[in-house]
Amino acid sequence: MITINENFLKLEDSYLFVTIANKVKEYQEKNPDKDIIKLGIGDVTRPIPKKVAEAMKKAVDEMTDSKTFRGYGPEVGYDFLKEKIIKNDYKKRGIKFENYEVFISDGIGTDIGNIVDIFAKYNTVAITDPVYPAYLDTNVMSGRSGCIVDGKYEGITYLEVNAENNFIPQIPTEKIDMIYLCFPNNPTGTVITKEELKKWVDYAKENQSIILYDAAYEAYIQDESIPHSIYEIEGAKEVAIEFKSYSKSAGFTGIRCGYTVVPKELVGYTKEGNKVQLNKMWNRRQSTKSNGVSYITQRGAEAVYTKSAQNEIEKNIQYYMNNTKTIKEGLEKVGFKTFGGENAPYVWLKVPEGKKSWEFFDELLQNVGVVGTPGVGFGPSGEGYFRLTGFGTKENTEKAVKRIQEYYKN
Ligand SMILES: *Cc1c(COP(=O)(O)O)cnc(C)c1O
Repeated sequence: MITINENFLKLEDSYLFVTIANKVKEYQEKNPDKDIIKLGIGDVTRPIPKKVAEAMKKAVDEMTDSKTFRGYGPEVGYDFLKEKIIKNDYKKRGIKFENYEVFISDGIGTDIGNIVDIFAKYNTVAITDPVYPAYLDTNVMSGRSGCIVDGKYEGITYLEVNAENNFIPQIPTEKIDMIYLCFPNNPTGTVITKEELKKWVDYAKENQSIILYDAAYEAYIQDESIPHSIYEIEGAKEVAIEFKSYSKSAGFTGIRCGYTVVPKELVGYTKEGNKVQLNKMWNRRQSTKSNGVSYITQRGAEAVYTKSAQNEIEKNIQYYMNNTKTIKEGLEKVGFKTFGGENAPYVWLKVPEGKKSWEFFDELLQNVGVVGTPGVGFGPSGEGYFRLTGFGTKENTEKAVKRIQEYYKN
């Protein structure tokens, strides 16, 4: 008899965005003449830079000639891309890495899901609440939680972030082994200062914990003082793994490429307390379970660092950030309390007094034809909040904000 991994049965049945899509579909079928604007899903809409496309086309041509054809590449990525990453994403900020500390992958969704492989099941885990769902679900699947009770998994520490604590997770009193942090944050659109992040690095050092740092929105940071990488914090190389993706910056959500940094200083411990280099373990895991990312994709990612592509990316980011500003300022004007949206493409807003996230979702859909994401879908502390994204078109964003203003102006 084939028995299953019963941890999967602990997962909540319906995926948030599926529920939203179903509700929208149902409404549209009943109201076919209504124009619906979607500001819900966190996916980019601007095309990839021209130089990236050119580099990928050239790589395809190389594949057609036996002299330049490439078969299997290095499992953890080509050096030509790693060198660009180290030079442009780190050295520029005074952070030094060697090629073997950078691991190229088909996006960090994959890496975030797989990283749990190298850690023991009995590690304690902390996530923020609300949270990007992948950190939680991957730990539930791999057996680091109990069942869900009142919206929370037993055995997982939820670090509540809300307007009262400025959306900064507070240092727990208990000892946590694995801490997930994401800044700029999805879903709240808020950021963390170097001083606050330093507290986490110090906590991790003191408790021999690891910080799993998701920097997917680093390119959206507008404020010079906000850290782009956790390694800007002294001592972080000893306690943090960092995930970075080309998805939200260079429009790679469909192409698929990102990277994970596992510094050589980083160690984990055996039950007896012996140190083991995590870089070696991750390398072993990746070399065994992945045959790498396509050469074509990696050439495309390399071209992200050309001046021309950087200019296009900056323009796209400004485009999204203008939308975000339109949403934030437009909603504040009619009395909404909003958060984030200044260094991230997400606006997190408090729903009108006395309403729940899903009630506000229905109200917005039915009365103004705008789709967003209920905050409670990201965790119990998201109740009473709502997420709108700057990833729509300028025209649709302006139209949506006008409709919301019209409806809520009194
Ligand atoms: C989009 C997103 C990811 C996934 O990135 P991919 O590289 O496309 O897999 C990871 N983390 C956060 C917070 C995201 O919003």
